[in-house]
This record gives sequence, structure tokens and C-alpha cells, in this order.
Amino acid sequence: MSDPDRTDPRPLTGEPLALDLLNTRWVRGTGTQDLLDGTDGLAVWLDANGLGGRFPADTATLRHTLRARDALLAAVEGDASGQGAEAVDAVLAHGRIRATLTADGPGERPEFDDASWGPAWLAARDYLRLLNAAPDRIRACAHEACTLHFFDTSRNGTRRWCSMASCGNRAKASRHYARTKDA
Ligand SMILES: [Zn+2]
Repeated sequence: MSDPDRTDPRPLTGEPLALDLLNTRWVRGTGTQDLLDGTDGLAVWLDANGLGGRFPADTATLRHTLRARDALLAAVEGDASGQGAEAVDAVLAHGRIRATLTADGPGERPEFDDASWGPAWLAARDYLRLLNAAPDRIRACAHEACTLHFFDTSRNGTRRWCSMASCGNRAKASRHYARTKDA
């Protein structure tokens, strides 16, 4: 049973879809939390990204969305083997863009052989958009214990933390601690 009142528990939301998918995993205390540990969490994630009405939060969609998350993480972490790119490309093989002309003018519509690949495909497609826009702005939080990712939209491109309030201050505090310990 999905719980319609379940709220999004994640510390960072609102990043572009590809990175928001990576941000379904985060570190709390010493453990990793995972929003996508079941279809209830998938429903929360789909709703958070405006996909709730379009795709069912079922086990097939969950499995494919997790496949996309693994692929995107490998691509973002960018190992030299190119396996990340291959894995993202494999997700993209499950959909295509259909050019359309509507009463509102020209458009593009994604099409899927199997709707359960829809959210996975859209996240992979969003990653291509970020790569086209500004690949150097796709960042992991600079805090070593943090697994969150963001797209840096600051004017100077100097954002380092998922959040100044949490990771930024934690880093400042540990630098302060190191200084006072040495003194
Ligand atoms: Zn962080």
C-alpha cells in the first residue's frame, strides 16, 4: 500500500532530474538512507518530480529506475573504463524522442516501448541535457562523507556543498577543530 501522506525525507531536493535521482541516497549518521528502498519511496520520488500521474510506482518501474541510478552514478563518477557511459546509453535505448506538431506549435514527445522505463529514461535524458549545458557544473558535494550531487547554477560556479547549512558548516567546524587541536 502506498501512503499518500509520506513526505519526501531527503536533505536535498529540487536538483535536475538526473541528479535528483542520485540524491535518493544520502548519509545520515553512519548509515546510508535510500528513498528507493521500495515502491512507496518510488511514489514519493515520482511525485517530487511531477511524474506521479504519468508512471506507476510498481516493482518494474522501481527496478528500471534503480538501473538508471547505478548507471548515472557510474557516469558522474566517470571511471576511465567508460562503463558509466555504456550503462546510461543502455537505459536510453528504452525510449526515443518523437517530433510532433501540435496546435501549440512544434514539440518533442518521449516515447517508450515499456512505460516502466519512462522515469529511468527521462533521468538519463536529463543527464545528456546537463552534459550539453555545462558538464563542469555537475558536482558532488565536497564533503567527503556526503554522497549528494548538484548542478551548480551559481554565477561564478563556486558552489562546493550540497548545503552550506549542513556540509559547509561541518567542514568549517572540522577545520576549526583541527586548528584548535594543533594550537
Ligand atoms: Zn553534502
